[in-house]
Amino acid sequence: GQCRTVCPTGALVIKKDIDRAWNVLHDKNKRVIAQIAPAVRVAMGEEFGLKAGEVTMGKIVAALRKMGFDQVYDTALAADLTVIEESEEFKKHLDSESKLPLFTSCCPAWVKFAEQKYPELTENISSCRSPQQMFGAVIKEQFRSLKETDGKDNVVIAIMPCTAKKYEAVRPENFNNGEYDVDMVITTQELAMMIKEQGIVFNELEDEALDMPFGLASGAGIIFGVTGGVAEAVLRHCYMDKSSSSLKNLAFTGIRGMKGVKEAEVELNGKTIRIAVVHGLKNADNLIKSVINGEKSYNFIEVMACPGGCIGGAGQPIPHSLNDRIQRTKGIYNADSASAIKRSEENPTIVALYNGILKRNHKLLHRSNK
Ligand code: SF4
Repeated sequence: GQCRTVCPTGALVIKKDIDRAWNVLHDKNKRVIAQIAPAVRVAMGEEFGLKAGEVTMGKIVAALRKMGFDQVYDTALAADLTVIEESEEFKKHLDSESKLPLFTSCCPAWVKFAEQKYPELTENISSCRSPQQMFGAVIKEQFRSLKETDGKDNVVIAIMPCTAKKYEAVRPENFNNGEYDVDMVITTQELAMMIKEQGIVFNELEDEALDMPFGLASGAGIIFGVTGGVAEAVLRHCYMDKSSSSLKNLAFTGIRGMKGVKEAEVELNGKTIRIAVVHGLKNADNLIKSVINGEKSYNFIEVMACPGGCIGGAGQPIPHSLNDRIQRTKGIYNADSASAIKRSEENPTIVALYNGILKRNHKLLHRSNK
């Protein structure tokens, strides 16, 4: 995970980001658009005395509207895009018979670690932008004409479980058409501070629904918030067998749970593929060493820097015990079970995007250097 040390510089950054957010929220010439990451909804309640794992998405949406956000959307929608893009890349990777695995790219702390320590592996990291960045790029493109009509700047604020997402947002490849795809990143803890500053009584808020069409996500997009979620979502998409029993079997392949390194061997459309899921950079480091020295071999590796995945991110309320992490994980799987759409390709907003702006501009979804 990330360093939790409270230092004066850290406190100043938080203050600065909260002030920047209030400034745009008070500016009538800005259209302020929120995207909420999967992990935030199962942890925010803890800041207000609720149980770990309680899904408070409806209250978060209500709070954001009271604070002045114009549109409130779900980052899990962009996770659905990531699933489709990464799956296509994975199929090509399998055909290439590469000895090295394809690594996931949605955790910026992992990507930075790999770039610094294993530059020779960066070619094997998925070219997909993270859901946060895909979301920003798609929204900026989609709302461009709106800006031309009413003159309001589109400002995308991402509500995220970690500070690594702040650094991801300002990477040079995420600066396009004279602006960043995501303008600001606010952590779960920072949003809780803003809610308190505003005097909003969070627990008494009536649940509100996300805005359409970008508030609609599949369960596959939501499970990105836990370790093993990306791998499971990709498999859901790749499997030809779309029955509910195949969906259930996937949950028992061994890619769920809190073990530091999980391995699974699955039959994918006639081929046996080997998957590893790892959380914590120390675990990732050890696993990569064993891949490089030939001890282990996989086709796909999901890496998350934080314990338990994003539900354990350093921008989340500090978990009191392992049990809090387990409860948050349960909350994510409950949200998946409750969602009517289980697979990314069945999300109608995704279908509409592929027939619309993504048909014209598919590179919105990939890092520009690829
Ligand atoms: Fe951020 Fe941790 Fe999730 Fe990586 S695993 S994206 S560092 S919260």
